[in-house]
Amino acid sequence: MIFTTIKLFLIMATTMSKIELKPLPYGYKDLEPYISEQTLIYHHDKHLAAYVNKTLELIADTAYADATLEQIMLSADGALFNNAAQVWNHNFYFEQFAPKPQTKPEGRLAEAIDSAFGSYRKLRERMTAEALSLFGSGWVWLASDAHGKLKIVSKPNAGNPLTDGLYPLLAIDVWEHAYYIDHRNARVEGVNALWHIIDWRIVDARYDAILNEQHHDSLK
Ligand code: MN
Repeated sequence: MIFTTIKLFLIMATTMSKIELKPLPYGYKDLEPYISEQTLIYHHDKHLAAYVNKTLELIADTAYADATLEQIMLSADGALFNNAAQVWNHNFYFEQFAPKPQTKPEGRLAEAIDSAFGSYRKLRERMTAEALSLFGSGWVWLASDAHGKLKIVSKPNAGNPLTDGLYPLLAIDVWEHAYYIDHRNARVEGVNALWHIIDWRIVDARYDAILNEQHHDSLK
């Protein structure tokens, strides 16, 4: 296995992820009314669990048996990439919500958002529009390059900006399973609900980790 983006592994401790079903960082009812208990039960305990189990099944007795999710994502393709990336994407997605979130970006991320998109409100509008225009299943990401430059990235299926050498900051899951129980076909309602529970403390920290690593590198 060749890992082209070694830097990725230096950037965030969280990018050395074991392949296991991580528990949610809040209770199943804690995101109501924005995400229902039933949606979380299905999304985490059924969909995510299935991706975890399938990934473990695919790597058993292969060269990937002891690999991290990131190592798999940066070198595998097909079913293995799809399942491993879905595990990573969902862990990242579930970790960004909180019952009592910090409702807006602050600090360096707030400045970068104003500079790249005009305002936090404009960023929300742009990401929501991307989520609505993505055909079929996929993910819309706010991502940063190694220098802190922000970008909105739409990816079909299990796609993730890591494979483009970008660092994910925020994820919107636009697979129907993310919103169909609560909103049926109304993807716009499912996406709009997320903005109430995204904890920008967590997104700010993700951005700071990238910038701090960049600073650290420049000192070497
Ligand atoms: Mn999902």
